[in-house]
Amino acid sequence: MAEDPRDWEIETRAVRGGLMRTEHGEISEALFLNQSFAYESAAAADARFAGGPGFIYQRFGNPTTQMFEDRLALLEGAEACKACASGMAAVQLSLMGLVRAGDHIVAGRALFGSCRWILSEWMPRFGVETTYVDATDLEAWKNAVRPNTRAFLVESPANPLLEVTAIGAVAEIAHAAGAKLVVDNVFATPIFQKPLALGADIVVYSATKHIDGQGRVLGGAILGAADVLTEAYKDMHRHTGPALSPFNSWVLLKGLETLELRVRRQTENAGKVADAIAAHGKVLKTIYPGRPDHPQAAIIANQMTGGGNVVAFDLGSREAAWRFLDALQIVDISNNLGDAKSMATHPSTTTHRSMPEAERIAIGLTEGWVRMSVGLEGPNDLIRDVSRALDGA
Ligand SMILES: *Cc1c(COP(=O)(O)O)cnc(C)c1O
Repeated sequence: MAEDPRDWEIETRAVRGGLMRTEHGEISEALFLNQSFAYESAAAADARFAGGPGFIYQRFGNPTTQMFEDRLALLEGAEACKACASGMAAVQLSLMGLVRAGDHIVAGRALFGSCRWILSEWMPRFGVETTYVDATDLEAWKNAVRPNTRAFLVESPANPLLEVTAIGAVAEIAHAAGAKLVVDNVFATPIFQKPLALGADIVVYSATKHIDGQGRVLGGAILGAADVLTEAYKDMHRHTGPALSPFNSWVLLKGLETLELRVRRQTENAGKVADAIAAHGKVLKTIYPGRPDHPQAAIIANQMTGGGNVVAFDLGSREAAWRFLDALQIVDISNNLGDAKSMATHPSTTTHRSMPEAERIAIGLTEGWVRMSVGLEGPNDLIRDVSRALDGA
């Protein structure tokens, strides 16, 4: 009997999922740098345009992009995947496909800055309003529902406070309201959290983060059931043009081969670095989803199989946070995450500077808050670098 890739272990899926070999039998996946495709006959062109198998135009699909989509879908345990040019293209499409003028969205208030911009600045132009809630408070989700609520959006763990939301419970509230739950799963990665299995309808990724993981290309993806992807997104994706380039698809496809290995090692490193940070006298508070003192540790135990590679901590003041960052010798000051190289950032003056101060205070984002993405360097070097910088903070 032929092997069914859906029965494979995750490591096998990562390396072999979606592989589409040409007649040359190439081992590494081919990069199809092709916009268009020729048809054997006018009738064959007619058949493809009628929805038959085969490629037509890069904006609709491309063999390398399809390999990336099929491999990521297999890793996620999703029926279908649509690759996008960036994580933000994926988030924006995932929401626009679900709502119409007059609809309402409920979203966790700790969101990636650009996601908040879409909800607060862009969607209202089309008559779509958003209510923000404390994503850890189930009553708040319930109370925010209106008769016209069509979508819930949550990031879990959320940037930059690493709050965790009970995805299954929020999915139930969404479904009872007739809405779909979209989960931005960047921080957990497909290795540690499977939102669809927990009840979510749609998962979005910025593939720019761990999936590339080596600081090269932008990319994104929307995953879910085949009927949801077709109904909500297929035509929109085709006609509005957020297609992922074949070259970036190829880079990300190769990234998926080592995703599991990299994320597990980064997470091992992050656990050690988080413990060193938490034990340091200059640190007021440390949040890491892999530590038992995380405020939502019970939910994490239920829905995640690893803490991920991001650690966040409070040094009490902007001055202390900046002194810490400026004293780092190995870890870079940068706002990306999931990279092989460790990096740290000061959210309130970078990624979250456009959030009004009152809201930053409301979500607990202090001036002393630092977010660190732990990479693949040796853990002892990282602990030495971080500890020395903390001494000087
Ligand atoms: C980076 C990020 C995005 C946006 O992804 P891009 O690839 O930069 O467009 C969205 N959500 C989260 C949680 C992110 O970290």
